[in-house]
Amino acid sequence: MSEKKLLNKLSSQLSNLVVFSKNTIIYFEPNIRFYYYSKQIKGTASIDSFKKDRSNEQVNFEKISQQKLSNYLLNFVNTLSKQLPAEDLNVMNHNINNLKIIQNGISSLALKCCGISQVYSNSLNTIVSNTSNDKTSDIYHELFHMASSEKSDDKNKVYSGFSQEDSQSKEIGRGLTEGYTELLRERYFPQDKYYFSNSYKYVLTYAQRIEQIVGKEKMTSLYLNHNLSGLIAELEKYSSKDEILSFINNTDYIILDRVGNFTGAIGREKYIKSNFSKTNDFLISTYANKVSQEDISQEDKIAKVNYYKDSLNDSQKNINYRYEYIDKNKDYTANLTKENDINKGRTL
Ligand SMILES: [Zn+2]
Repeated sequence: MSEKKLLNKLSSQLSNLVVFSKNTIIYFEPNIRFYYYSKQIKGTASIDSFKKDRSNEQVNFEKISQQKLSNYLLNFVNTLSKQLPAEDLNVMNHNINNLKIIQNGISSLALKCCGISQVYSNSLNTIVSNTSNDKTSDIYHELFHMASSEKSDDKNKVYSGFSQEDSQSKEIGRGLTEGYTELLRERYFPQDKYYFSNSYKYVLTYAQRIEQIVGKEKMTSLYLNHNLSGLIAELEKYSSKDEILSFINNTDYIILDRVGNFTGAIGREKYIKSNFSKTNDFLISTYANKVSQEDISQEDKIAKVNYYKDSLNDSQKNINYRYEYIDKNKDYTANLTKENDINKGRTL
């Protein structure tokens, strides 16, 4: 079967899947063209905050020990509890006690064709797994979605990591959410191979770069409390709200790194190219603004910004041909303020 036919087949299967599972499947967007149009038609969600006091909820270990795939659930809870502050684990505590797991559930062709072994539905707090026994792989990525997703009280909105989706399927922040989910999976469960790892490389790079600006603890906390507004507020220290929203929207189009695999997706490359240029420009400019406010010497500021830019370039060079989407002629160090240049006399 030709690439195009394959792509069409896949798209129609997955479009059906997405339609059938409206609001339920978090990440499953193998066709950016489809995603682009669907988002363009539906529009993006308006952003607000949702916070429920779940500080009294504790993990019911007895209950989850009886659960299917309990060894993974327990390992997840224990690992996070050891390494992260308790106040960031309230959503996890709440959801894991009520998590539903359906085994042998991935039977549709659409899912089989793509080798997916688990799907987490955030509106149903359910993991659908292809396993029939107590062994699986790539479940930790889904468990991070579980630990960071909640529905509003009226059930009309789903908050998940840095994404929000309303009852009309309007959404925002999916790209950054997937990237950061995969970053956390790599950080805390590096041994657990995740099927989409390759596909999420770009959004992972973006999430990583944003984390460098916001800070690791802060960013993890914002993610686990599904606090997109909080993330935007952090970034507003160094950039305008319009630019931040535009960055988030652009990363939504770069969820999957599949351009090389499915060149038949007409129109997609154009969006990808322009999105890469814009997202890279945003990251470097925002980082430069942060560095500009730091109390270090002018030459250290310049070194930091150049290092950030070069390492962003390197991380993207490894993946494909897209490294060219950093403007080589733009001097990101031009506007670094010299006001705090107190260490100027320092020598090596
Ligand atoms: Zn995901």
